[in-house]
Amino acid sequence: MPEGPEVRRFADQLHSVLAHQPIAQLTARTQQAKRWLAAHEEALSDRTIQRVSTHGKNLLGWIEGEYYFHAHLMMWGRWLTFTGVPPEEVDRRERARIVTPTGGAILLSAPIFQLGQGNPYEQIETLRLLGCDILPQPGESFDVAQFQQRLFAPEQVQRSLGAALLEQSIVAGIGNYLRAEILFLCRLDPWKQVGDLTPSEFEQLCQMIPQIAQRAYETAGVTVLEGDRVRMQQDASLVYRLGSEFGSHHYVFRRTNLPCLRCATPIRQQKQQVNPDTKDEKTRIIYFCPVCQNTSIPLKTPRTKSRSTVKSSACFSSSCSN
Ligand SMILES: [Zn+2]
Repeated sequence: MPEGPEVRRFADQLHSVLAHQPIAQLTARTQQAKRWLAAHEEALSDRTIQRVSTHGKNLLGWIEGEYYFHAHLMMWGRWLTFTGVPPEEVDRRERARIVTPTGGAILLSAPIFQLGQGNPYEQIETLRLLGCDILPQPGESFDVAQFQQRLFAPEQVQRSLGAALLEQSIVAGIGNYLRAEILFLCRLDPWKQVGDLTPSEFEQLCQMIPQIAQRAYETAGVTVLEGDRVRMQQDASLVYRLGSEFGSHHYVFRRTNLPCLRCATPIRQQKQQVNPDTKDEKTRIIYFCPVCQNTSIPLKTPRTKSRSTVKSSACFSSSCSN
């Protein structure tokens, strides 16, 4: 699933082809947008798209006349952009198409694309509830005060850190790879309760969240430092397959059974309940180093399979993909 940095990169692409251009055509296949377009025929025609921005994993297009479009990619969505004439063929996964005289953007597979007029934060509940962005807008900084207030709210203090970081109303933009990487770099146990964080651990979390998000944004999803990436590209014992660009991007995420870059202990993966306080049984896989992160949970027996078996069963299995 695209996380904050990936959505921001899509927004940059959209901004570069759409901003300051009039809308020549806007079509959509999502229910809300189809209804809205039917009720507001021609409302968007020739209106200028002012800018495209993000908040966490949400993408917003701001249109002249206080109109907007909002999209969330969920698991499989993505944007394509083009310059010049739009492609004639319509992909069956197409959900929305925005065309200007000079180019445009096509949304594929995303379940959420909506249109409106007014303040989207007043009209769309998921936006209204969002916490501070892991990628602050240019000129702004990570909102530590709001993050602190929402993280330590009474209803959150008994939650695990691994679950709390995925909660978009606490902080917006973190998904599965970022939470694993942030917790590893902070040496924090994903099962530690929010209320047990020390002031210095909280401070480190506040520094690491925007820092890793910014790094992932600038590098298209790479969370390791360049030196560590080179190490993984040169040492066959550190990756599933030497030479694979994919396997050298993260410290713990999808590195199950490979040696920790800090202490050489095999990285582990385990299911973690996202909402232990409710009846919600939803789990996500968390990746961690049991030594560096001093994990408190009982570990399952490690696999003792050969490297080639590990590659197919632990790294690329469907259970490993969330
Ligand atoms: Zn370690």
